[in-house]
Amino acid sequence: MKKNFWEEKTLQQMNSQEWESLCDGCGLCCLEKIETEAGEVYFTDVACRLLDSKTCRCKDYSNRSKRVKDCVRLSAQNTAAFDWLPSTCAYKLIHNGKDIPAWHPLISGDKDSVHASGISVKNRIISNASDGEWTVLQKMAD
Ligand code: SF4
Ligand code: SF4
Repeated sequence: MKKNFWEEKTLQQMNSQEWESLCDGCGLCCLEKIETEAGEVYFTDVACRLLDSKTCRCKDYSNRSKRVKDCVRLSAQNTAAFDWLPSTCAYKLIHNGKDIPAWHPLISGDKDSVHASGISVKNRIISNASDGEWTVLQKMAD
């Protein structure tokens, strides 16, 4: 991949390797969300059953759509889905003309910097919840 390719290409122009590298592995998009009557969205600590709580990666990424029917496949052609991504997500940041942060693995060169910075959901989630057991993890910022 060319250095700083995300500053020169649009999401639509990226190849699959570049596209995949934009995901920092935070795991936030794989959490159940709730929306209040006022339209505020919150991430809960309830994760998709395929999300690994230690690595924050999907346990079966290549078969994710077959395994989890409401798993949303992100693409440059479906930017409406970015509304449900956290404000820290590189897909959303680039789509909105913003820079990606210093802790992003593409900048830091360290895939664990997303965990060290406290952005990821590592060790902060549960996979199943009975009524009342779940909690709000964080609000989705604009
Ligand atoms: S929110 Fe964005 S950066 Fe985080 S895991 Fe999902 S796609 Fe990757
Ligand atoms: S199936 Fe989809 S929502 Fe579930 S962990 Fe994998 S990528 Fe995330």
